[in-house]
Amino acid sequence: MSNSRRSFLRDLAGSVRDVAAAAQPDARKVPDTFLASGDRMERYSRQLVLPEWSESAQAALAGSSVLVVGAGALGSPVALYLAGAGVGRIGIVDDDEVELSNLHRQLLHYTPDVGVPKALSAAAKLGFLNPEVVVEPYQARLEAGNAAGMVEGADLVVDCSDSFETRYAVNAACCAARIPLVEGGVLGTSGLVMAVRPGEGACYRCAFPAPPPDAPSCATAGVLGPAAGVIGSLQALEAIKLLTGVGEPLTGAFLQCDLATLSFLRVNVQRRPDCPDCAE
Ligand SMILES: [Zn+2]
Repeated sequence: MSNSRRSFLRDLAGSVRDVAAAAQPDARKVPDTFLASGDRMERYSRQLVLPEWSESAQAALAGSSVLVVGAGALGSPVALYLAGAGVGRIGIVDDDEVELSNLHRQLLHYTPDVGVPKALSAAAKLGFLNPEVVVEPYQARLEAGNAAGMVEGADLVVDCSDSFETRYAVNAACCAARIPLVEGGVLGTSGLVMAVRPGEGACYRCAFPAPPPDAPSCATAGVLGPAAGVIGSLQALEAIKLLTGVGEPLTGAFLQCDLATLSFLRVNVQRRPDCPDCAE
C-alpha cells in the first residue's frame, strides 16, 4: 500500500472515530500503534474505510477473545469471518472429526481433512487466513457440566452447535457469567439468529423455554450449504457488532429466516421474570 493511501485511510479512520472506544473497554488492551505495524492497515483496509468503522473498532476486535462452539456448517463461516476481521483470539470447541458428508456445507474442511478432528482442521485454516489471530482448538464437547469453564474468559460466545441441549448449556453459562452470546440454528432451508446481552434483554431460553419435541437433525431433515452460510454469516455480523459497538445488534429479538422464499421475520422477545437462566 502506498504511503498516501495509508495516510488517507488513517485520516479517514480518525475522522470517523466514534463512541465505540468508550463503550468497548477491550479496545484499550491494544496499543494505539496497533495498526502502524506490518501489513495490518492493508489487511483491514476495506473495513477501515467504512464510515461506521474506526481504528478503535479494529483495536476492539484485536483485543477480543471469542469462543466459537462448533466448527461445522455455522461455525465455519463464523470463524472465517471473525479471523478475517481481526478478532485477536478465537477458541474453537468441537469433538467431532471431519466426515465426507460434512463437506458440502462446512467451509473450513476439505476432502483431505476427512478423519481429522474438526477443531484442528479449523485451526489450521484460520492460521492460513490470518496468522496474527491466536486460535485455540478444543477437542471437547461443551455440556452443562463444563460450559461455565469453557466460556470463562471469553468476551463473546458464538453458539454454532447443532443440539438444543448444547444451546441451553451455552445460554445458561453465558447468562451466569454475563458474556454476550450470538445464537444460531439452521435446518433444511430455514434458520434463526439471536443476539443476547445477558441482563439487558431476553436470552435464548426466554425466547425458547423448552426444546421442540422430536426436533429433526441435519442428518435426517437435510440442510442446504448456502442456507447454513447465510445464518453463519449473520451470526458473524452480530458478533462483530457486539464486539465493536458498530451497528445495531439483534438483541431482544430473533430473526427467523425462510431461505426457500427469502422471507425474514424479526420477532421481538421480552425477558421472562421466571427464566431459569437470566432472571435476576
Ligand atoms: Zn432468559
